[in-house]
Amino acid sequence: MAHTHPRFAWFNGRLVPWEEARIHIYSPAVKYGAGVFEGLRGYWNDGQREMFVFRLREHLERLAFGIKVMRFDVTPDLGQLERAVIEVVRANEFRDGVHIRLSALLDGDGEMYSVGPVTFCCTANTRPPTKALTEGLAAGVVSWRRPEDAALPMRVKANANYQNGRMAVHEAKANGYGAAILLNNIGKVAEGPGMCLFMVRGGVAVTPSITSGILESITRDAVIRLLRDELGVTVEERDVDRSELYAADEAFFCGTAWEVTPITSVDRLPVGDGKVGSLTKRLQALYFAVAKGESALHSEWRTPVYGAASARAAE
Ligand code: PMP
Repeated sequence: MAHTHPRFAWFNGRLVPWEEARIHIYSPAVKYGAGVFEGLRGYWNDGQREMFVFRLREHLERLAFGIKVMRFDVTPDLGQLERAVIEVVRANEFRDGVHIRLSALLDGDGEMYSVGPVTFCCTANTRPPTKALTEGLAAGVVSWRRPEDAALPMRVKANANYQNGRMAVHEAKANGYGAAILLNNIGKVAEGPGMCLFMVRGGVAVTPSITSGILESITRDAVIRLLRDELGVTVEERDVDRSELYAADEAFFCGTAWEVTPITSVDRLPVGDGKVGSLTKRLQALYFAVAKGESALHSEWRTPVYGAASARAAE
């Protein structure tokens, strides 16, 4: 069956047909996974006939941070990358929720010492909602651990870091789980392979701190603010023990791709009553309302793609 893909990708400053967005097999990006990337989402608001990219500025800043830590020899033009995201969505005329990938990849034919040239590229594609959003999923703690910061900085969204997540995903799948939870080097709960984790105990939301080997997730930050400011919930950022997950009333994953996804069991033990938690449900509804622009809250988190404001940004 023919695989359908979008018509255009954005590659080093311009839109190109999808098939032409290529880097060489000899590049350090291919050999070592020497690249950094961002996953973003665009939310379609049908009433407003508008697509909103969620927290675009924060994603661009994290990409720039990754480029710095990876010592790539380039200063990213964040204005250009912002336009790239907008252009790639517009060119493909998406009118449905999209997942966007923005990458800085170490190209050329160098080896470990190489710091350039850096290829910037951006793709977007539709991504239908998963069943897990409403039903929740069964998560399992895997035997693979998050590397400690002294081994590999996991707060950098580097391509190579995702080998760790990939090992976790496959172990979880082999054991029949819907998602993996990784512990960190001291055996505390870290996060999932591509998402952060929260639990709710006694009405307090608890999530591992940003020094626990996690990615400094933009959604995690949004969730903390929505919980605190809009839902009046106390949020603690601290070490989380594995067995605390068994004691939790509710638990959920969060991230750009995972949005707010309920966890209904951990290691086959039910979380709370084994149903999607009520706070999780309220938070999820609020998150979607804000991301889609159905709520007026946090308009600074939404970049319109098709409207006048985005036309200004694209000038
Ligand atoms: N942790 C990891 C390991 C991730 O890859 C992601 C996805 N970027 C997240 C957490 C969630 O981060 P964000 O909310 O910024 O997408």
